[in-house]
Amino acid sequence: MPEMPEIQAHAERLTEAFAGTRLERFTPLAFTALKTAVPAPDVAHGHPLEAVDRRGKHLLLRFAPATYVVHLMQGGRLRVDEKQAARPRGGQARWRFADGRALLLTEAGTERRAGVWVVDGDPLTRPPLCDLGPEADSVDRTTLAELLAGHPMRLHGWLRDQRIIAGIGRRLANEICHRARLSPFASTARLDDDAVGRLHEAIGACLADSLADERRRTDMSSSSERAGAVHNRVGEPCPACGDTIRAVEYRTYTISYCPTCQTGGKVMADNTTSRFLR
Ligand SMILES: [Zn+2]
Repeated sequence: MPEMPEIQAHAERLTEAFAGTRLERFTPLAFTALKTAVPAPDVAHGHPLEAVDRRGKHLLLRFAPATYVVHLMQGGRLRVDEKQAARPRGGQARWRFADGRALLLTEAGTERRAGVWVVDGDPLTRPPLCDLGPEADSVDRTTLAELLAGHPMRLHGWLRDQRIIAGIGRRLANEICHRARLSPFASTARLDDDAVGRLHEAIGACLADSLADERRRTDMSSSSERAGAVHNRVGEPCPACGDTIRAVEYRTYTISYCPTCQTGGKVMADNTTSRFLR
Protein backbone atom coordinates (compact mmCIF):
# COMPACT_ATOMS: atom_id res chain seq x y z
CA MET A 1 0.00 0.00 0.00
CA PRO A 2 1.30 3.48 -0.77
CA GLU A 3 2.34 5.24 2.45
CA MET A 4 3.04 8.88 3.29
CA PRO A 5 6.14 9.30 1.04
CA GLU A 6 4.49 7.82 -2.05
CA ILE A 7 1.27 9.81 -1.56
CA GLN A 8 3.09 13.07 -0.71
CA ALA A 9 5.34 12.99 -3.79
CA HIS A 10 2.36 12.04 -5.96
CA ALA A 11 0.30 14.95 -4.59
CA GLU A 12 3.17 17.30 -5.46
CA ARG A 13 3.40 15.93 -9.02
CA LEU A 14 -0.38 16.22 -9.53
CA THR A 15 -0.40 19.80 -8.22
CA GLU A 16 2.42 20.69 -10.59
CA ALA A 17 0.56 19.18 -13.55
CA PHE A 18 -3.07 20.14 -12.84
CA ALA A 19 -3.36 23.11 -10.43
CA GLY A 20 -5.35 25.96 -11.97
CA THR A 21 -7.11 23.69 -14.47
CA ARG A 22 -10.91 23.91 -14.46
CA LEU A 23 -12.89 20.76 -13.64
CA GLU A 24 -15.38 19.94 -16.37
CA ARG A 25 -16.90 16.77 -14.97
CA PHE A 26 -16.39 14.29 -12.13
CA THR A 27 -17.77 10.84 -12.93
CA PRO A 28 -17.96 7.88 -10.55
CA LEU A 29 -17.36 4.79 -12.71
CA ALA A 30 -18.06 2.07 -10.14
CA PHE A 31 -21.02 2.16 -7.77
CA THR A 32 -18.79 1.51 -4.75
CA ALA A 33 -16.37 4.36 -5.55
CA LEU A 34 -18.34 7.33 -4.23
CA LYS A 35 -18.54 7.17 -0.43
CA THR A 36 -20.66 10.30 0.19
CA ALA A 37 -24.12 11.51 -0.92
CA VAL A 38 -23.88 15.14 0.22
CA PRO A 39 -22.65 17.46 -1.19
CA ALA A 40 -23.52 16.41 -4.73
CA PRO A 41 -20.46 15.02 -6.54
CA ASP A 42 -20.83 17.64 -9.29
CA VAL A 43 -20.52 20.54 -6.82
CA ALA A 44 -17.04 21.50 -8.07
CA HIS A 45 -17.83 21.44 -11.80
CA GLY A 46 -16.52 24.61 -13.44
CA HIS A 47 -14.04 25.39 -10.66
CA PRO A 48 -10.24 25.29 -10.98
CA LEU A 49 -8.22 22.73 -9.03
CA GLU A 50 -6.49 24.69 -6.27
CA ALA A 51 -4.01 21.99 -5.24
CA VAL A 52 -3.62 18.30 -4.53
CA ASP A 53 -2.72 17.87 -0.87
CA ARG A 54 -2.15 14.89 1.37
CA ARG A 55 -3.35 13.88 4.83
CA GLY A 56 -2.17 10.50 6.13
CA LYS A 57 -2.45 8.12 3.17
CA HIS A 58 -5.21 10.18 1.50
CA LEU A 59 -5.00 12.51 -1.50
CA LEU A 60 -7.05 15.73 -1.32
CA LEU A 61 -8.14 17.29 -4.63
CA ARG A 62 -9.06 20.77 -3.44
CA PHE A 63 -11.61 22.94 -5.25
CA ALA A 64 -13.27 26.05 -3.75
CA PRO A 65 -16.73 24.46 -3.20
CA ALA A 66 -15.49 21.04 -2.04
CA THR A 67 -12.56 18.66 -1.70
CA TYR A 68 -12.45 15.19 -3.27
CA VAL A 69 -10.70 13.00 -0.68
CA VAL A 70 -9.23 9.92 -2.35
CA HIS A 71 -8.01 6.77 -0.58
CA LEU A 72 -6.08 4.41 -2.86
CA MET A 73 -6.09 1.54 -0.33
CA GLN A 74 -3.99 -1.42 -1.53
CA GLY A 75 -4.24 -1.45 -5.31
CA GLY A 76 -5.58 1.98 -6.22
CA ARG A 77 -3.84 4.47 -8.48
CA LEU A 78 -4.70 8.02 -9.54
CA ARG A 79 -3.09 8.70 -12.89
CA VAL A 80 -3.43 10.82 -16.01
CA ASP A 81 -6.11 9.16 -18.14
CA GLU A 82 -4.57 9.09 -21.60
CA LYS A 83 -7.25 6.97 -23.30
CA GLN A 84 -10.39 8.21 -21.53
CA ALA A 85 -12.13 4.95 -22.42
CA ALA A 86 -15.85 4.61 -21.67
CA ARG A 87 -15.25 1.63 -19.38
CA PRO A 88 -11.59 1.64 -18.31
CA ARG A 89 -10.20 -1.50 -16.68
CA GLY A 90 -10.51 -1.20 -12.89
CA GLY A 91 -11.96 2.29 -13.33
CA GLN A 92 -13.42 3.81 -10.15
CA ALA A 93 -13.78 7.51 -10.89
CA ARG A 94 -12.66 10.14 -13.40
CA TRP A 95 -12.03 13.87 -13.18
CA ARG A 96 -12.19 15.43 -16.67
CA PHE A 97 -10.73 18.90 -17.00
CA ALA A 98 -11.67 21.75 -19.37
CA ASP A 99 -8.32 21.48 -21.22
CA GLY A 100 -9.23 17.94 -22.33
CA ARG A 101 -7.01 16.08 -19.86
CA ALA A 102 -8.37 13.76 -17.18
CA LEU A 103 -7.36 11.96 -14.01
CA LEU A 104 -8.53 8.37 -13.52
CA LEU A 105 -8.81 6.49 -10.24
CA THR A 106 -8.30 2.77 -10.86
CA GLU A 107 -8.13 -0.15 -8.48
CA ALA A 108 -6.47 -3.45 -9.27
CA GLY A 109 -8.05 -6.66 -8.00
CA THR A 110 -11.59 -7.22 -6.81
CA GLU A 111 -11.57 -5.79 -3.29
CA ARG A 112 -13.13 -2.47 -4.35
CA ARG A 113 -12.01 -0.57 -1.27
CA ALA A 114 -10.50 2.52 -2.89
CA GLY A 115 -12.88 5.42 -2.81
CA VAL A 116 -13.75 9.08 -3.08
CA TRP A 117 -15.36 11.26 -0.42
CA VAL A 118 -16.78 14.64 -1.53
CA VAL A 119 -16.41 16.96 1.44
CA ASP A 120 -17.33 20.64 1.82
CA GLY A 121 -15.96 22.93 4.51
CA ASP A 122 -12.66 21.98 6.14
CA PRO A 123 -12.02 18.36 5.07
CA LEU A 124 -9.60 17.81 7.97
CA THR A 125 -12.53 18.07 10.41
CA ARG A 126 -14.84 15.71 8.51
CA PRO A 127 -14.85 11.96 7.71
CA PRO A 128 -12.72 10.19 6.62
CA LEU A 129 -9.91 12.48 7.82
CA CYS A 130 -11.24 13.71 11.20
CA ASP A 131 -10.23 10.57 13.11
CA LEU A 132 -6.60 10.53 11.92
CA GLY A 133 -3.79 11.06 14.40
CA PRO A 134 -1.09 13.68 13.82
CA GLU A 135 1.19 13.28 10.81
CA ALA A 136 3.89 10.78 11.76
CA ASP A 137 6.74 13.12 10.77
CA SER A 138 5.29 16.06 12.74
CA VAL A 139 5.26 14.40 16.16
CA ASP A 140 7.95 15.65 18.55
CA ARG A 141 9.75 13.32 20.96
CA THR A 142 7.68 14.29 24.02
CA THR A 143 4.38 13.80 22.18
CA LEU A 144 5.66 10.52 20.78
CA ALA A 145 6.39 9.27 24.31
CA GLU A 146 2.88 10.27 25.44
CA LEU A 147 1.22 8.58 22.45
CA LEU A 148 3.23 5.39 23.05
CA ALA A 149 2.33 5.24 26.73
CA GLY A 150 -1.30 6.17 26.05
CA HIS A 151 -1.90 3.35 23.56
CA PRO A 152 -0.31 0.15 24.90
CA MET A 153 0.08 -2.15 21.88
CA ARG A 154 2.74 -4.05 20.02
CA LEU A 155 4.97 -1.52 18.28
CA HIS A 156 4.41 -2.67 14.68
CA GLY A 157 0.62 -2.41 15.02
CA TRP A 158 0.92 0.90 16.86
CA LEU A 159 2.95 2.42 14.02
CA ARG A 160 0.29 1.36 11.51
CA ASP A 161 -2.71 2.62 13.51
CA GLN A 162 -3.79 5.74 11.60
CA ARG A 163 -5.85 7.03 14.56
CA ILE A 164 -2.64 7.30 16.65
CA ILE A 165 -0.20 8.62 14.04
CA ALA A 166 -0.96 8.90 10.34
CA GLY A 167 1.00 7.98 7.23
CA ILE A 168 2.85 4.76 8.09
CA GLY A 169 1.97 1.34 6.66
CA ARG A 170 3.44 -2.15 6.68
CA ARG A 171 6.69 -1.45 4.84
CA LEU A 172 7.66 1.63 6.81
CA ALA A 173 6.67 -0.03 10.10
CA ASN A 174 9.16 -2.81 9.30
CA GLU A 175 11.87 -0.35 8.32
CA ILE A 176 11.32 1.98 11.30
CA CYS A 177 11.51 -0.89 13.83
CA HIS A 178 14.74 -2.10 12.23
CA ARG A 179 16.35 1.34 12.11
CA ALA A 180 15.38 1.95 15.76
CA ARG A 181 16.73 -1.51 16.72
CA LEU A 182 13.40 -2.32 18.37
CA SER A 183 11.37 -5.50 18.25
CA PRO A 184 8.19 -5.09 16.19
CA PHE A 185 6.54 -7.02 19.05
CA ALA A 186 7.75 -4.69 21.83
CA SER A 187 5.00 -3.23 24.03
CA THR A 188 4.74 0.50 23.39
CA ALA A 189 4.02 1.15 27.09
CA ARG A 190 7.35 -0.38 28.12
CA LEU A 191 9.77 1.49 25.85
CA ASP A 192 12.41 3.38 27.87
CA ASP A 193 13.55 6.91 27.09
CA ASP A 194 16.46 5.76 24.96
CA ALA A 195 14.15 3.53 22.89
CA VAL A 196 11.68 6.39 22.39
CA GLY A 197 14.55 8.58 21.19
CA ARG A 198 15.70 5.93 18.69
CA LEU A 199 12.12 5.44 17.49
CA HIS A 200 11.66 9.20 17.01
CA GLU A 201 14.86 9.41 14.96
CA ALA A 202 13.89 6.33 12.91
CA ILE A 203 10.40 7.62 12.04
CA GLY A 204 11.85 10.91 10.79
CA ALA A 205 14.73 9.34 8.88
CA CYS A 206 12.74 6.53 7.23
CA LEU A 207 9.99 8.91 6.08
CA ALA A 208 12.52 11.49 4.82
CA ASP A 209 14.60 8.90 2.93
CA SER A 210 11.54 7.40 1.23
CA LEU A 211 10.14 10.83 0.36
CA ALA A 212 13.44 11.83 -1.25
CA ASP A 213 13.34 8.62 -3.33
CA GLU A 214 9.74 9.21 -4.41
CA ARG A 215 10.41 12.83 -5.37
CA ARG A 216 13.04 11.62 -7.86
CA ARG A 217 10.38 9.60 -9.70
CA THR A 218 7.88 10.58 -12.40
CA ASP A 219 5.17 8.23 -11.09
CA MET A 220 4.37 6.50 -7.83
CA SER A 221 6.64 3.51 -7.20
CA SER A 222 5.33 -0.04 -7.06
CA SER A 223 5.96 -1.85 -3.78
CA SER A 224 8.75 -3.97 -5.31
CA GLU A 225 10.63 -0.80 -6.29
CA ARG A 226 10.79 0.55 -2.73
CA ALA A 227 14.16 0.03 -1.11
CA GLY A 228 14.41 -1.38 2.38
CA ALA A 229 16.70 -3.01 4.92
CA VAL A 230 14.25 -5.71 6.02
CA HIS A 231 10.98 -5.33 4.09
CA ASN A 232 10.69 -7.89 1.26
CA ARG A 233 14.19 -9.15 2.21
CA VAL A 234 13.29 -12.22 4.26
CA GLY A 235 16.07 -14.81 4.09
CA GLU A 236 18.65 -12.23 2.98
CA PRO A 237 21.45 -10.81 5.17
CA CYS A 238 20.74 -7.79 7.37
CA PRO A 239 22.63 -4.80 5.90
CA ALA A 240 23.61 -3.69 9.43
CA CYS A 241 24.89 -6.94 10.96
CA GLY A 242 24.70 -9.77 8.41
CA ASP A 243 22.23 -11.92 10.37
CA THR A 244 19.42 -13.48 8.32
CA ILE A 245 16.22 -11.41 8.06
CA ARG A 246 13.31 -13.38 9.55
CA ALA A 247 9.54 -13.07 9.16
CA VAL A 248 6.34 -13.56 11.04
CA GLU A 249 3.58 -13.92 8.51
CA TYR A 250 -0.02 -12.86 8.96
CA ARG A 251 -2.90 -13.37 6.56
CA THR A 252 -2.52 -10.01 4.81
CA TYR A 253 1.00 -8.89 5.68
CA THR A 254 4.46 -9.91 6.84
CA ILE A 255 6.46 -8.55 9.73
CA SER A 256 10.15 -8.81 8.80
CA TYR A 257 12.96 -8.16 11.27
CA CYS A 258 16.58 -8.90 12.10
CA PRO A 259 16.97 -11.02 15.28
CA THR A 260 20.44 -9.67 16.12
CA CYS A 261 19.49 -6.00 15.65
CA GLN A 262 15.97 -6.15 17.08
CA THR A 263 15.06 -9.08 19.30
CA GLY A 264 18.27 -9.89 21.19
CA GLY A 265 18.90 -12.78 18.80
CA LYS A 266 15.53 -14.37 19.47
CA VAL A 267 13.72 -15.84 16.47
CA MET A 268 9.98 -15.38 16.86
CA ALA A 269 7.73 -18.41 16.51
CA ASP A 270 6.27 -18.63 13.05
CA ASN A 271 5.35 -21.81 11.26
CA THR A 272 6.17 -20.30 7.88
CA THR A 273 9.67 -19.11 8.87
CA SER A 274 11.13 -22.60 8.66
CA ARG A 275 11.17 -22.54 4.88
CA PHE A 276 13.65 -19.66 5.04
CA LEU A 277 15.93 -21.54 7.44
CA ARG A 278 16.63 -24.58 5.34
ZN1 LIG B 1 20.84 -6.90 11.85
